[in-house]
Amino acid sequence: GRVLRVPDTGLVLLVGVSGSGKSTAAARWFRPTQVVSSDACRALVSDDENDLSATGDAFELVNAIVAKRLKRRLLTVVDATSVRKDDRAQLVRIAKEHDLPAAAIVLDVTEGTANKRNAGRTDRDIPPRVVSRQRQNLRRDLKRMDREGFRRLHVLRGEEEIAAARVEPER
Ligand code: ATP
Ligand code: MG
Repeated sequence: GRVLRVPDTGLVLLVGVSGSGKSTAAARWFRPTQVVSSDACRALVSDDENDLSATGDAFELVNAIVAKRLKRRLLTVVDATSVRKDDRAQLVRIAKEHDLPAAAIVLDVTEGTANKRNAGRTDRDIPPRVVSRQRQNLRRDLKRMDREGFRRLHVLRGEEEIAAARVEPER
């Protein structure tokens, strides 16, 4: 399987549509304390996990936690879809502000795979049209993501590549 090199001191973005397996991969590749999840932050500021009006507050929390951790030179992984360029840019900027590198790991699965998994989920209700929009964003940006300031950019295509990959922090 692929070896994914990431900075041992810095920021790692997991990028992928809902149901691409970001939270599952994060649990396999990183320690729980290293992972900042937008869903967990949404749950902290809203009693309804599907309440989209809480998104702004949730990401203020994500950004604040990321900044605090990077200030302490801790490897920090953001578990959020991050399919929008502006969302990624904001996180890369926080890393730059702390003079630390950022890496991105893209989990590129088909809409079919994501929808099938989402249909089986009990934690969230994610309609296929949401995945479709996320995937359009991602597809459009993938070609140019190497110019967004990531020191490392890993694109994993399909379930098998994701399952076989492992992460290796590097100084
Ligand atoms: P979201 O952005 O909505 O949080 P996510 O990218 O974090 O989605 P996960 O929660 O990791 O996605 O995975 C979605 C569903 O797919 C879960 O029910 C998970 O158990 C299942 N799943 C994840 N990876 C695999 C896999 N390799 N094989 C089978 N099922 C998987
Ligand atoms: Mg998740």
